[in-house]
Amino acid sequence: MGKMIYLDNNATTKVDERVLEEMLPYLKEEYANPSSMYDFSRKSSKAIKEARGKIKDFLGAANEKEIIFTSCGSESANTAIRGALAHDKSKKHIITTKIEHPCVLNVYRYLEKQGYKVDYIGVNSNGELNIDELNNLITNDTALVSVMWANNETGVLNPIAEISQIIKSKNPETKFFVDGVQGAGKVPINVVEAGVDMLGISGHKFHAPKGIGALYVNSKTMINPLIIGGHQERGKRAGTENVPYIVGIGKAAELASDNLQYEMTEVKRLRDKLEKGIIQNIYNSRVNTGLAPRVPNTTNIGFEYIEGELILLHLSDLGICASSGSACTSGSLEPSHVLRAMNVPFTAIHGSIRWSLSRFTTEAEIDYVIEKLPKVIEEITTISPYQAELKALKELKVSK
Ligand code: PLP
Repeated sequence: MGKMIYLDNNATTKVDERVLEEMLPYLKEEYANPSSMYDFSRKSSKAIKEARGKIKDFLGAANEKEIIFTSCGSESANTAIRGALAHDKSKKHIITTKIEHPCVLNVYRYLEKQGYKVDYIGVNSNGELNIDELNNLITNDTALVSVMWANNETGVLNPIAEISQIIKSKNPETKFFVDGVQGAGKVPINVVEAGVDMLGISGHKFHAPKGIGALYVNSKTMINPLIIGGHQERGKRAGTENVPYIVGIGKAAELASDNLQYEMTEVKRLRDKLEKGIIQNIYNSRVNTGLAPRVPNTTNIGFEYIEGELILLHLSDLGICASSGSACTSGSLEPSHVLRAMNVPFTAIHGSIRWSLSRFTTEAEIDYVIEKLPKVIEEITTISPYQAELKALKELKVSK
């Protein structure tokens, strides 16, 4: 493979060598089932206990019994939402936001068909939640509210502690689930301080492998298991424990905590450099999130009057991996539900690109993108059918 610059870390991340090293013994010689009675299984069960402790610390939970290992972020969300509602069927109203990941949004749509009354909170043009809407929606019948810690497409952070206060002051019985997948490892998370009842994370977003996640469920919240079977995970999630991957997510969490400061200073500096380099050099670009508070690694930039997919193909030729705001659904290029909820102008919504960095991103990589991108955008702009609009935009920028 030639040059490769990976700026799609919100999609998935590279496994840290140190994570792999910790996992390897459990993929080789330490293969015992951790539930067995003999000595051989003792090391596996101890490794799980240690990893659980690391996730507990990572999330600021009070007790490691509040941590359940799952297979991914989607399973964590499904277990929390469906598990809590299955346990207490007395209330029939649930709330979420219009910008959740499909693993929450599609669960809500499913529940809507099952007879739940569902409200979806909107966002402003920068992608910030309309919290006032939430205030007015919570009733005695509200069973659950789900709000993501940070959005995967824009990186915009939601004020989780404030949201929790609103929920609990209106109805202390309402449960609060947070999809923490895009916050973990990028900003500090403390479930107790934030006042959340349940929070899900996914290992592959912070340098553990794909196929492992975790769910925090506080001791006051009861859930029914999604996967019914053996007694593993205190009966909350059946299936023989995935020891190597549990060890991996534990190590990745420990490393993420160690690197948090780096993430919030150095990764942020590189993200800001990239953003500035693009905005200053490319007249038809705009930061889609304005001044909204964001995780340090993400920027979502709209290139007006051109197609995002075309930009990605050109970038791919240069070895640069980024992601487009549009989801290619059934062959039609439909703009993302997040950018639509933000009312990103139609001129920019089709040409929006998400750039997401990690602690492995280098300054040289960012410099390369800043150097190469203007020519790519200029080439694509030349074949855009909106030449008059582009000319007007250019004149407007020059006159500013
Ligand atoms: N939630 C958010 C915000 C995400 O970005 C993702 C993955 O893209 C998920 C949940 C799902 O995680 P997983 O791929 O581990 O199921």
